[in-house]
Amino acid sequence: MNERTKSSEKFLPFSRPSMSEAEIDAVVRVLRSGWITTGPVTAELEQCFCETVGCANAVALSSATAGMHLLLHALGIGPGDEVITPSMTWVSTVNLITLTGARPVFVDIERDTLMTSARLIEPLINARTRLLVPVHFAGAALDLDPLRVLAERHGLPLVEDAAHAIGSGYRGNPIGQRGTAIFSMHPIKNITTGEGGMFCTDDGQLAERIRRLRFHGLGVDAFDRETLGRAPQAEVQEPGFKYNLPDMNAALGVSQLSRLKTMNQRRADLAAIYRQLLAEVEEVTPLESPAYPFEHAWHLFIIRLDIEKARMSRDDFMTALKQQGIGSGLHFRAVHTQKYYREQMPALAENLPNTEWNTGRICSLPLFPDMDDADARRVVTAIKFILRENKR
Ligand SMILES: *Cc1c(COP(=O)(O)O)cnc(C)c1O
Repeated sequence: MNERTKSSEKFLPFSRPSMSEAEIDAVVRVLRSGWITTGPVTAELEQCFCETVGCANAVALSSATAGMHLLLHALGIGPGDEVITPSMTWVSTVNLITLTGARPVFVDIERDTLMTSARLIEPLINARTRLLVPVHFAGAALDLDPLRVLAERHGLPLVEDAAHAIGSGYRGNPIGQRGTAIFSMHPIKNITTGEGGMFCTDDGQLAERIRRLRFHGLGVDAFDRETLGRAPQAEVQEPGFKYNLPDMNAALGVSQLSRLKTMNQRRADLAAIYRQLLAEVEEVTPLESPAYPFEHAWHLFIIRLDIEKARMSRDDFMTALKQQGIGSGLHFRAVHTQKYYREQMPALAENLPNTEWNTGRICSLPLFPDMDDADARRVVTAIKFILRENKR
């Protein structure tokens, strides 16, 4: 392998949060205000989320993972229960299911979208099934109509992992508007609060429960959040957690959300450049867009490496990209292939052919709003160079 590195060019990371002066000013205002933890700005972010996503209730949390934990707790999921989710997901969901004592049941994905479907989930439903957690992948949207019909028919809650889907839409409606969806505001996601999550639901009772569980289970008046923590007479209604989002973080989110459309448009423009330039690289296949109407948030630009044609492994390909000054990501290494699950739950690995096929071939290319067109072109040039050199 040729180790030529272009020292004249800066390292292009796989992702970098976009921070404008408005975000910096917003955080500084909170720091000067005398109230830095959960308060008026977090309430404002929740309100902004409801307006952007069109959801009835939004509860800000310290992470999407926290949202999943509170959900499993609120649903009383535990030993003897099964939760259906893909293995092609972030480990957080599966870790939490496992920690409750319930059993994760892995559903396969479509090979070219990395998304699961009602058709794939249905045969896995049995009397122990308690919850369905499909994942909107890379900024595309799940085919929600059949999933909703399936969940309804079996009387099961459907909770969308919408970590990749801030700004995504399905058949003309924003993801999160209907049903229950959990968004992430981790720094690599489409908007960020440093760390953070948003629990959106049209179920008012569930929202109240999540709001209470977020802060020690205290029955604090939802309209008096400003004084949350200042009301020593508030009583524990049920044992809860400590998953609230501080105003310092929420301030970032309010400002980021106002730039969501612009930032996602920039992501879409970069993705279009990638798609055009990669069309002539036969060893590399981007994900396909689903055929139903949807709005893409372009959270990730994922390619699959034809490891036979390229005569190199995906891991070597990623290393070679790094040597060319280009960062890349892996979304995701399938959960069932990770040490704990491989060793403790080998049966989970059954019947996941499309997950298996993708887990050794996928790679996420740099994609973030502050990239310029030349950066995207540079990535494709590097890919061509790597593939050519490898065959010499
Ligand atoms: C990022 C991510 C999560 C977890 O989000 P956090 O805010 O980091 O807890 C969950 N699911 C998917 C698919 C993700 O990409």
